[in-house]
Amino acid sequence: ERRFDIPHLTDVFEHLVPIPSTFCLRSRTPASEDFADGYPSDEKWHGYINNNDKVLLKTIHYSSPTSAGAECIDPSCTWVEQWVHRAGPREKIYFKPEEVKAAIVTCGGLCPGLNDVIRQIVITLEIYGVKDIIGIPFGYRGFYDEGRHEMPLSRKVIQNIHLAGGSLLGVSRGGPDVSDIVNNMEERGINMLFVLGGNGTHAGANAIHNECRKRRMRVAVVGVPKTIDNDILLMDKTFGFDTAVEEAQRAINSAYIEAHSAFRGIGIVKLMGRSSGFIAMHASLASGQVDVCLIPEVPFYLHGPHGVLNHLKCLLESKGSAVVCLAEGAGQNLLEKTNATDPSGNIILGDIGVHIQLETKKYFKEIGFPADVKYIDPTYMIRACRANAADGILCAVLGQNAVHGAFAGYSGITVGTCNTHYVYLPIPEVISYPKQVDLNSRMWHRCLTSTGQPDFV
Ligand code: ATP
Ligand code: MG
Repeated sequence: ERRFDIPHLTDVFEHLVPIPSTFCLRSRTPASEDFADGYPSDEKWHGYINNNDKVLLKTIHYSSPTSAGAECIDPSCTWVEQWVHRAGPREKIYFKPEEVKAAIVTCGGLCPGLNDVIRQIVITLEIYGVKDIIGIPFGYRGFYDEGRHEMPLSRKVIQNIHLAGGSLLGVSRGGPDVSDIVNNMEERGINMLFVLGGNGTHAGANAIHNECRKRRMRVAVVGVPKTIDNDILLMDKTFGFDTAVEEAQRAINSAYIEAHSAFRGIGIVKLMGRSSGFIAMHASLASGQVDVCLIPEVPFYLHGPHGVLNHLKCLLESKGSAVVCLAEGAGQNLLEKTNATDPSGNIILGDIGVHIQLETKKYFKEIGFPADVKYIDPTYMIRACRANAADGILCAVLGQNAVHGAFAGYSGITVGTCNTHYVYLPIPEVISYPKQVDLNSRMWHRCLTSTGQPDFV
């Protein structure tokens, strides 16, 4: 067959290396030079991406060589450019499609768009000619637990799954250790693994990638970041975020109507955001109905002359009602610490929404200024939503690029958008800590301008 007349590469797994993180053009060589040969791709993807195509992540101009420090190899250098690999189909591919057994797994919590990504991965694999595609049920646990059988996937199975939220494959937290997962992958003959999940899932995917490399297995492990909170470093936006903001607005609007229609009404809405307030900030900005936006990045007090409650009283006096929008990770210092963790080891947060609701009711009762407090927690309704149009497109492109990346021989990577371009990023770079709202950014200041809230300290 025309496709395979290039001699089989004996140690092709040497090409399955994580791409260097961000690299300075002048000081580092892109790993793409390793990708000299491969099988020609049978598919005509309306043009190919060259392995040397790069996307500018950022340019930093330092005021002096001293402040540039270790970032620059050249001691007189005062600026650094960081680039990442452009995502997309390559002309040379590293797997014969008929030898591929691809597996997809979804872990962590739900997020709008999971089914869209699963669907697009399956479709793209089939276009490459892959026949053996399976879904691992209920997260990493599906690799291990008895009685959980793999789910054969094909275009017929996935055709309409994007019309509903959730995950066709199911999700879970916790589960087997990495060597058990890799043993299981060896038993099943899986040589492409697509992992959809958040920071924990990606830490797992990176560990699986490292274990496969250690065992010299010819396996590509590719992640698609799923975080409704949009808290992944370096990326413009993760799938599900846009839908979450849109749905959150409905909850805020309900809270506004309840508050506005009551005598001295206060509406409180709790949104997602364990360590980052992006959803709360964007939903507050989008709705224009929020008077107080509380996010994990900004400490605040409830009581005292500069506290949230006193401000709510002023709002009731001046405009008759008030709406509070808060992220679940906000004000954790106001709650009792429990140290309880979920099966994945994540700290279980105290419920700040319920706490503020109770404190607000108590406060207005105590000062003899009756207020009508309504509390809305739309978290699970938002997570279970179907992806909106913008997220549907994002999921489609990410799903396609995940498959292109695996076929190109990349492993230990994840897909995303940087500066509006689609790119491949090494997993450790994006999960080292959660991305947070920059309190000096124009966006946060715009949010404060929109709500008109003071500092609560
Ligand atoms: P979410 O954003 O919904 O919390 P997540 O991917 O962070 O998504 P987790 O429950 O933290 O969700 O982790 C998902 C899976 O990843 C679990 O099965 C967990 O056991 C595994 N995992 C988490 N951290 C690691 C790690 N450091 N190494 C290996 N596996 C991990
Ligand atoms: Mg997580």
